[in-house]
Order: sequence, then structure tokens, then C-alpha cells
Amino acid sequence: MTVSRFKIIENGLKCRCPNCGLPTLFRSDSRFKVNETCPNCDLRIENGDGAFLGPFAINYGVTAFGVIIPVIVLYATGRIGARVALPACFAGALLVPLLLYRVSWGWWLMLYYFFLPANLPANRMGREEDDR
Ligand SMILES: [Zn+2]
Repeated sequence: MTVSRFKIIENGLKCRCPNCGLPTLFRSDSRFKVNETCPNCDLRIENGDGAFLGPFAINYGVTAFGVIIPVIVLYATGRIGARVALPACFAGALLVPLLLYRVSWGWWLMLYYFFLPANLPANRMGREEDDR
């Protein structure tokens, strides 16, 4: 296998293309527009209509379980008041998804190709050569 699972994790944490390792997940003219395919290696990044669901689920999970629920628990146990809890939940619900948007795409591609590394074009090419 050309691209190992370790390399897939490294590329995912750095928000890089899991196939070629270049920072090509997002268009150069926008911080939030995802490239349909990697300009370097043609890996499909935005793979179909539901492609955003993976990053969305990661973003939602981190926001809910990392920010909102802990704040609610702190409020429910009396450690913080409503004057702190409400703005913290509101700010967390708005800011965390924005801050995690790019990272969640890298994490999603990392998770997807960690479990299906043979689907990477670089690894498929090696397999096709092995079949001959
Ligand atoms: Zn690439």
C-alpha cells in the first residue's frame, strides 16, 4: 500500500488531501469552499450530494458533546449560573462549528480512508499493478 494508515491520519490531522498529502481540500479563493476534486491528484473530496454529512456529524458531535452538554451539566449542578451558561451555549453553538469547519473535513476524510485505505487512488494503482 502506497499511502499507509499512519500517513492517512497525519494528512487528516493536518487537513491535507489523504491521497497526495497536499493542502488542497479547500479552494484557494475561499476558506469555506471545498474543492470537488484534489487539483493535484484528482481524488474526489466532495463525493456526491451527501458529502457534507460526515464533516457535519463530526462538527455537531464536537459542539454538542464538547461544549453544549458540559455547559448544561455545569449549570444543572449549580457550578455556573444562567447568566454564564446561556451566553456560553450561544457562543459555543455559533463559534465552534465555524472554527471546526475546515478541521472537520480533514477528520472526516481521515476516518473514511482510515477504514477504507484501498479506495485511495494511490493505493488502487498499486493494487492494479499487483494484479498483473
Ligand atoms: Zn490530492
